Amino acid sequence: MSHVLVDVIPKALQRASAVRVAGLRRAYGSIVAVDGLDLDVRPGEMLSVLGPSGCGKTTLLRLIAGLEAPDAGMVEIGGRRVAGAGSAVPPERRRVGMVFQDFALFPHLSVRDNIAYGLRADPDRNVRVRELLELIDLVDAAARMPHQLSGGMQQRVALARALAPRPDVVLLDEPFSNLDAALRTQLRGDVREILRASATAAVFVTHDQDEALTLGDRVAVMVRGRIEQSDPPEVVYGEPATPFVATFVGIANLVRAELHGRVAITRFGSVRLVGPRAESAHGRALAVIRPEHLDVTEVPDGPADAGAWRVLGRRFTGAEILYEVIAPDGERLWVEAGHAVRRLRVGDLVSLHLRDVETVAFPIEHLGSEPSGPIGVASTATPSSPAEHAPPPGLTT
Ligand code: ATP
Repeated sequence: MSHVLVDVIPKALQRASAVRVAGLRRAYGSIVAVDGLDLDVRPGEMLSVLGPSGCGKTTLLRLIAGLEAPDAGMVEIGGRRVAGAGSAVPPERRRVGMVFQDFALFPHLSVRDNIAYGLRADPDRNVRVRELLELIDLVDAAARMPHQLSGGMQQRVALARALAPRPDVVLLDEPFSNLDAALRTQLRGDVREILRASATAAVFVTHDQDEALTLGDRVAVMVRGRIEQSDPPEVVYGEPATPFVATFVGIANLVRAELHGRVAITRFGSVRLVGPRAESAHGRALAVIRPEHLDVTEVPDGPADAGAWRVLGRRFTGAEILYEVIAPDGERLWVEAGHAVRRLRVGDLVSLHLRDVETVAFPIEHLGSEPSGPIGVASTATPSSPAEHAPPPGLTT
């Protein structure tokens, strides 16, 4: 009988979430920073929490870490209740590692001693420190002091220090925000590999969507204290759950459409719908049309084409050129011009054709009110108004 239990218990423990949060709430006076939030992070999983400034990301991490106490709800780490319903386990006993912007290395301790800091009582301390130095590829820098390290090296040491006591989860709050662009990209890859190799779960908060999409096994999009969608990066991009997610993650045009089950008819023709709600969808809606969903063809000089779109501006991202175009009726869209199209100038005329793509659409009846005016929406749209036209930074005319 007992061997059955022995078999069962480890499996049950393995299934325990690295972090589970339910109904979590934290207000500061009248500001509700975290508003009844639910979240589940599996063992070994990297979860990016992406959201605009002020949506409550840091407060969420501080609640998980135990640096803040919730007003309501609960937090479990490794299957153990650490906050809520009478529990209040202090941060140092929560089995969390932290890499926060303001958690600098101890300046008077060497790299080795910084990493060993949380292992003072561990008899295998030296072995563990050596293991971590190898993991972060800084064996030769073990004796250096923090001021003798580059910013990227310092963050790798901070990560090793957080991982040293084998926490159930590492919490990272915008750890790359003080670094330049090239170093950020490099360090992102390093951090991902280090966390993978250590098989430690991580919750990583950022307002940078590239970072969230490249680092996360799953991306939780947070707005106004709640998680609006939590899915693998390609699902968040390809099947956004709300207009806010569609326009916050990547650039999305919200185009008026008429739904007929799995098909949406737009002004450009029909498009197939995906997602759990597609079958039952009927009536008026806003379809998500990404810039790459449309083919752009130049309209030759000559008599004006009544259906042509005019180039209003462009945005160079490094990998592609996006153009903002306007229709004679005032609708504005962002489109991506393929390599076949010569570089367009402001004022050029183009025609747009929908590619054979799958996307999602939001029935207008679910959006509250029908937006008025043009609906082209870019990545900096605000959560309060999916219909607002908000050109992203970098627009050139
Ligand atoms: P950012 O990306 O700018 O760091 P964030 O998403 O991490 O923002 P939080 O720092 O969690 O957001 O803040 C959420 C809200 O709670 C904000 O309106 C903020 O002003 C407020 N807030 C956070 N901490 C406090 C505090 N100690 N006292 C009062 N208000 C606070």
